[in-house]
Amino acid sequence: MDKIPIPLQERKTRKFNAFDCYASEHTSGYFLLPFRFHEITSEREVLVNEIGDFLVVQKGTAERIVKREISLDNDPELYGDLIANFFISPTPVPGLLDVISTRYRTKKSFLDSFTSLHIFVISLRCEHTCHYCQVSRVTAEKHKYDMSESHIDIGINLMMQSPSPFVTMEFQGGEALLAFENIKYAIERTKKEALIYGKTVTYVICTNLAPLTDEILEYCKENKVFISTSLDGPEFIHNQNRHKPGANSYRLAVDGISKCRSILGEENVSALLTTTKLSLQYPCEIVEEYVKLGFRNIFLRPISPYGFATRGESKNKYDTLVFLDFYKKALHRIIEYNIAGYFIREDYTTIILKKMLTPFPVGYVDLQSPAGLINNVIVFNYDGSIYASDEARMLAEMNDFTFHLGSLDINSYNEVFYGSKSDVLAEVFANEALAGCSDCAFQSYCGADPVHNYTTQHDLYGYRPSSTFCQRNMEIIRYIIELMDSDKRIERIFRNWITGKS
Ligand code: SF4
Repeated sequence: MDKIPIPLQERKTRKFNAFDCYASEHTSGYFLLPFRFHEITSEREVLVNEIGDFLVVQKGTAERIVKREISLDNDPELYGDLIANFFISPTPVPGLLDVISTRYRTKKSFLDSFTSLHIFVISLRCEHTCHYCQVSRVTAEKHKYDMSESHIDIGINLMMQSPSPFVTMEFQGGEALLAFENIKYAIERTKKEALIYGKTVTYVICTNLAPLTDEILEYCKENKVFISTSLDGPEFIHNQNRHKPGANSYRLAVDGISKCRSILGEENVSALLTTTKLSLQYPCEIVEEYVKLGFRNIFLRPISPYGFATRGESKNKYDTLVFLDFYKKALHRIIEYNIAGYFIREDYTTIILKKMLTPFPVGYVDLQSPAGLINNVIVFNYDGSIYASDEARMLAEMNDFTFHLGSLDINSYNEVFYGSKSDVLAEVFANEALAGCSDCAFQSYCGADPVHNYTTQHDLYGYRPSSTFCQRNMEIIRYIIELMDSDKRIERIFRNWITGKS
């Protein structure tokens, strides 16, 4: 039976008020532009607009703005700030709309060059037995677990098809240096192809440094290869986290770092920290170790919920609140060093600060919308399979192939990057369109991570109220704003972290 249309004025479920209700805007002195807000402390709140500009104000200001209680006569400074920062406009369409749209485009310009980071899992073999290992290493059957030359060739071919003129080729493991001959083969081949395709290639080797030799270092120097290693803090933490049978992993890492620095230069060596349950008890000691070794940066990363990390729950599973407490204590120690004149920055904080305080996009895979997976990073696994991100291939090591995009043997560039799997992921990789994130004040500083959602909540879309990704980012961003608002010295230090100058 045909439905009888209900006249518009009689509908009970209409979402909008009558037109007259909005007419008051014409006499109230200003019009609202899109913005969101979040409580920072019991007295302060932050307003954030669509392009990530923010203002920290007295609590209740957002309500006053919406109720049209702010005026040039009563609150000249606040009124001026709100106009200048695109929270309100004296005209229905702001005069500087072009500026807003240019700023928005600039923030999203990381999409222009699409995938630039290409991870080659050159070997799954490793001589360490770290209990949190995220790649679930293997120790035997060398040739079965090394990437073949034909897979390297096809991977390079796909990398050359990237629209980006600047690409990064990152070698990971297992322990990548166990397959150093394959790395050499890949770099030599890439150098030739890059000339043909006009690409500038940055080479990175992720290594625990244990198999490092002078010959390897010489080759890295000649070819401007960047070294990324792991350092989990003082010897007693590092060696418990990163066990190497019959050897002292910490000594090998520290000696390796010093050799790399002297031959490659300090700026070409970096270290990453993985935070285990043990590490959480020693935030200050870890920072002090990084300072002792002369580092100017430290990355306070929580453990990822993948690989062997999920099996050793007693050592690796911890509450996000405990991690946040660790992060804050370590951050305070880092700030103390800066106040005392030693420049050292925390990398995760700096990434968020760049998003908050500069108009530029930040190429950090885990905090992007659209998400970094596929859009910024692709992984070619040792066996020729292709994954949407590093975390996605770690999941595959646990026999979950949800994020498997294809194979180097059979799939073309278009099938991998624009295939049906990519389409499914595209539906959930923009936080602007996710419930919870779409009205979150921190949307432009945060990102979307379907792999994390899927791993921790068994759902690509994710549920923000119980998401550990959300809980961690929301508190870290709130805390960074609170620190800047409460102490101008800290704001100055944070601004220096962005420029890299002390
Ligand atoms: S994940 Fe949480 S903090 Fe991040 S944008 Fe979404 S709701 Fe906001």
